[in-house]
This record gives sequence, C-alpha cells and structure tokens, in this order.
Amino acid sequence: MSNEDSLPPFTLFGLDDVENYGLVTEADNSLPLDIHNQVFQLVEKGNQSFKESRFEEAISSYSKANSIKPLDPIVLGNRSAAYIRFGQYLKQRSASISEYKPLNGFDMSMLGELALKDADKLMSLQSSLVKSYITKACALMLLERYEVARDTILSGLQIDPFSGPLRSNLQELEKVMPNSMRKTHGMAERSDDFDCTVCLKLLYEPATTPCGHTFCRSCLFQSMDRGNKCPLCRTVIFMTPRTCAVSVTLNNIIEKNFPEEYAERKSEQDTLVHLGNESMPLFVMDVIIPCQKLSLHIFEPRYRLMVRRIMEGNHRMGMVALDSATGSPVDVACEVEITECDPLPDGRFVLELESHRRCRIVKAWDQDGYRVAEVEWVKDIPPQSEQGKADLRELTTSAASFARSWLDRAKEAARQGDRRRLEILLNVESMIPTPQDPERFSFWLATLTDRRPSERLELLRLQDTGEVLDYRLVQIARQISLFHQSLSFDC
Ligand SMILES: [Zn+2]
Ligand SMILES: [Zn+2]
Repeated sequence: MSNEDSLPPFTLFGLDDVENYGLVTEADNSLPLDIHNQVFQLVEKGNQSFKESRFEEAISSYSKANSIKPLDPIVLGNRSAAYIRFGQYLKQRSASISEYKPLNGFDMSMLGELALKDADKLMSLQSSLVKSYITKACALMLLERYEVARDTILSGLQIDPFSGPLRSNLQELEKVMPNSMRKTHGMAERSDDFDCTVCLKLLYEPATTPCGHTFCRSCLFQSMDRGNKCPLCRTVIFMTPRTCAVSVTLNNIIEKNFPEEYAERKSEQDTLVHLGNESMPLFVMDVIIPCQKLSLHIFEPRYRLMVRRIMEGNHRMGMVALDSATGSPVDVACEVEITECDPLPDGRFVLELESHRRCRIVKAWDQDGYRVAEVEWVKDIPPQSEQGKADLRELTTSAASFARSWLDRAKEAARQGDRRRLEILLNVESMIPTPQDPERFSFWLATLTDRRPSERLELLRLQDTGEVLDYRLVQIARQISLFHQSLSFDC
C-alpha cells in the first residue's frame, strides 16, 4: 500500500485533542440541569469517539449536543476538529483503499466547509483565544485556501507569538505554498492585521504598549511626543525609548512573511536616519563655533523625534542660528556630535554636545517638522607662501603657550572655591586641539571669550588666512590677556 500518489502534503498541529465539557458548576446558569447533563454526556461520548479516531461517530454526537445547545464554544470547537481530522484522514487514504472501502456521504471539501463554518462561529464567540485561530487555520488548510490560512495564523500569532501549534502550522504552510503564490499574492492579499494604525503601513520594529496595542516603535514615540497616551485607546502610558523594546518575535514573523514590503519599510526608515555625510538635521538655536562643549535640553516634539533618529544614526546634527531679518536660518552652521543623550521619563532629552566643523547650507527642507540640510564643509584656505605658513605656525605656537599658561593660572584661581568656573575651565581644556591645526586652534581660542552671536557668525565665515590670523588668533589672544579678570565662557 503506497501513499505516494495521494496528497498528504502537511501535518496539522493543535487538533490532537478535544476539550472536555464543563461540570455543572462551571456551566451556564441559564441552562436547566438536565439539559446541561445531556450536553455533557454527548460531548463526553463524542470525545471518546474522537480519541479512538472514530470521527463520524464523534461528529454525530457533537451535532446532537449542538442541536440542544447551539453556539457553545466547546461543542463547536470539538466538532470542527472532528470534521478536520476526518477530512485529513480521507485525504491521506490511498486510492486503493478508497476503492476497496468507499466512504459515502462525506468528501473532503464538504468536511472542510463544515469545519470552517464551526470555526467561524467559534471565532466570533472567542476571538481572543488562540484556539479559535488554530481551528480556523486548520480548516482553511484542509480546504487548500493557504493564503487565508496564513493570514489567520498571523492574526493568531499577534495574540500569542509563542503558540507552538500556530508556528508549526505556519511552517507546514510554507512547505506546501508554491513560491510563486507567495510572491505574487504576498503583498496584494495581505490582510491589514500587521499594519500600524498610526502610519497605516506594515509594522516596522513593532512595539507593544502595556494596554496591548502594537505600533511601529517610531510611530509610537512620534505620537507620544504629543502626550503620553496610547495612539489608539488613549490610555496613559509611561514608556521611553530606553524602556521600550521591539517585539522581536513579531518583527521576525513580519520580516519572514512579507520580505519585500518589510525591506521597503526598512529602507524608508533608513533614509530618515542615515542621511549621508553631506546632509544632516538642523537644530535652530544659536551660532556655535567648533571646539565648544555645551548642554541642551530638548523638549519640543519635533526635536524629540529628530534626536531619536540622530541617535539611531551617526549622532551628528547641525546647529544654526536664525537670521532675525529674514526669519530663516543663516547660511553657515556648525556640526555637533551628541556625546551623551539622557532621555527623561516624560520624553524630553538632556544632551551633551561637542562642536566639530563648519559647513555652509546648500539646500534645506522640512522633514516631519524639523529641518534637514544638504551641506558643504568649509575650511580655512591655508597660506600659499612658505613665509605665510611659517608665520601661522609661529603665531599659533605662541598663542598656544600663552593660552596654556593662562588656563593653568585660571584653573588654580578657580580651585580656591569657584567650582562652577573650574568645571567650565576643565571642559574648555578637554577640547583643546593641537596647535598643529591652526584652524581648530583659533576656534578653540575664541571659545575662551564671550562673543556676540554676530561676531561668532563672522568667525565661522572667515576662511582667509590673513583674516584668520588677525581675528581669531591675534585679537582674541589680546582680548584674553586684557580682560582675563572678567572672562565668561560659552559653555
Ligand atoms: Zn507605523
Ligand atoms: Zn492602547
């Protein structure tokens, strides 16, 4: 006897056993005791037949129970399981046996339809139980309606991502579903069970709230920037990016089942986070020059979103001032690196920043409420003549030794009791660049004096060595020596 030419393409999981009917104490109070007992006995009898694989008899007992008590989840679930197991048995019978011992009255597709009908009723009664999804999926698999079966399994996995039967059935489905079918139908026929209710796209890095709702992690926080509430049910929730993990299992399920759409979502997200070397988000506030250390408090919703994206990417952004005359950002900015990022429980951030290099804004546009700019890096033009280079080296070296001795004296004085000033001086000292880099060194020197925004802007714009020498090194060093008693710092 060979099964080779019949079709036993998959095993169904989760229907090996049936449920027992509750004793009277657990039963529906509205049911008279004798009726309850009748149903109880019919289910017991059906379950016994089921266990002995006499599915026709089991179906008959459950049907009698159903006519006495319609819409009972246990009766419906057990009968559906019996239909399915019987159908599976027929499916796996070899042709020779079927000819030798024909079975009248039942065929596979009819059993499948009957099983599905019961499973649908079960689902409408108990849509929050995984069992309903297992039963319905098995009925659909028996009917070879694989796409819908898969959707049902995926919906069930949202309730219990660890359900063994659902996961095993999904694996079985993958064996029988022809690849072409998966490809062509995967996207078009996908149910919206895996869509994020905020962006209405396939969930990307899903995160689940304590109230049980799932959103793309980025959508959830973007919505929470406007108030700590679940975007769907408005329950107040306390989650920060640090305490909220991506549901790894669900993410894997989604990635595995909708590979193309998932890849699309990923690249969409990546373009928001990784802007490339020549583009960066802008924080519009003040003129910052290179070699500064500063702290920032981020509370505006649009900047919270921006900071989260920056922290997923290269930790860099541009800082730029607003031109009071035009109301738009000035054309030069300074790249800053977020060296520390402390999210507060209410969604705000405290940032520690270090400023690095200057840039000119070539083009700027709006992205989810904040500005993003394409930039061009700006550098000093080094002296062409040997004499000019030597002059610059000499001037920088002497400015460096002057600054070093001034800094030592200032620290010594601050140690006598001004802790805040000492802290500022240590910060300044930690940023000191090598005098072999006159450009950076001249900016660092400028951080030692309190300069008006318009002056800082002027410093940022200077590229000509002659002017650099004059403004950034000579003038500033002179100012430091003249006013070192009353210095304050841009920190
Ligand atoms: Zn979303
Ligand atoms: Zn909710």
